[in-house]
Amino acid sequence: MGGSLSRVLTELSDVESHINLSKEEKRAFKEVVPVFPFSSSLYYLKLASRSKAVRRMLLPSLEEIDEEIQSPGELDPLCEERDKKTPFLTHRYPDRVLIVTTNFCPVLCRFCMRKRNWLKPKFFIDEGEIEKALSYIKENPKVRDVLISGGDPLTLPLERLERLLSGLERIEHVDIVRIGTRIPIVDPERLFDENLLNVLERGKKVWINTHFNHPDEITEVSKEAVGRLLERRIPVNNQTVLLKGVNDNVDTLTELFSRLQRIKVRPYYLFHCDPVKGVMHFSTTITLGVEIVKELFKRLSPLAIPYYAVDGPGGLGKVPVMPKRFRKIKDGYIFESFNGKKFFMEDR
Ligand code: SF4
Repeated sequence: MGGSLSRVLTELSDVESHINLSKEEKRAFKEVVPVFPFSSSLYYLKLASRSKAVRRMLLPSLEEIDEEIQSPGELDPLCEERDKKTPFLTHRYPDRVLIVTTNFCPVLCRFCMRKRNWLKPKFFIDEGEIEKALSYIKENPKVRDVLISGGDPLTLPLERLERLLSGLERIEHVDIVRIGTRIPIVDPERLFDENLLNVLERGKKVWINTHFNHPDEITEVSKEAVGRLLERRIPVNNQTVLLKGVNDNVDTLTELFSRLQRIKVRPYYLFHCDPVKGVMHFSTTITLGVEIVKELFKRLSPLAIPYYAVDGPGGLGKVPVMPKRFRKIKDGYIFESFNGKKFFMEDR
């Protein structure tokens, strides 16, 4: 592993020495972990001891293996495996590719849509596979946007991350390399590592996609981690998943998005929770998501409001679902203002 990734805790005894667990939480740990494993950094575990929302995102719950709750879910509803062009690269949209570089994450988030990878032996993309992915991209000049995901790509051995980023930097038709990572949230001190920051900075096309889901995750340390990226002129954007019992209300999301804006992180997606087996207990209705976004427009300026989006089943891709505030009539449109007032504009 490159840099200073902190030790991960996986055993119940480790967890119990840092956080008091209820009887039910202990039972869940014992029954759920053989199906969906557990892992946490010490930092995030301590955060969970102070925050109910973080606790729900981190600790195993019996709901994960409750057949009645989970039965509508699938292991890979978005068919990422089907659209693979090399063992590590998925190509679905004409201009974008996804490279899943590892299945390792220091913290296993209970809401993860790639839970299917958790039980596979730990893997990191190797040099040969990096070359294969780079060759595929070179041969496909329409690809301008490369999403590097995982697992957490910032846990890759540093020389491999560097090889991948420098390879992409040299492909002229690639404009942007987005790295999806929860490191600023779950192990932020890793971003105090100058070697890692140098690699990201030298990547030149790198944008970081973080994944803050709750205001409690924005701490002094995570702010500092984000600040180090911004100092290197690496843009930081955020994706949030709408999660029942964590952030499924207007007040929480207003606070989250305004605080992200304060630390110069642009909230750009609010994802509807995918119907994944083991994650269904986090699902809300789409109607609730639309209602929340409608309210957000009354409270925040558009720069702080992400696109609410659903991901179509079977690989149909993301569709923004924004509250509809206009309708066409004969010679124009009727609009609804942020405070509910209706007005007409001619279509000319
Ligand atoms: S960091 Fe991302 S990939 Fe890793 S467990 Fe959490 S949601 Fe899944």
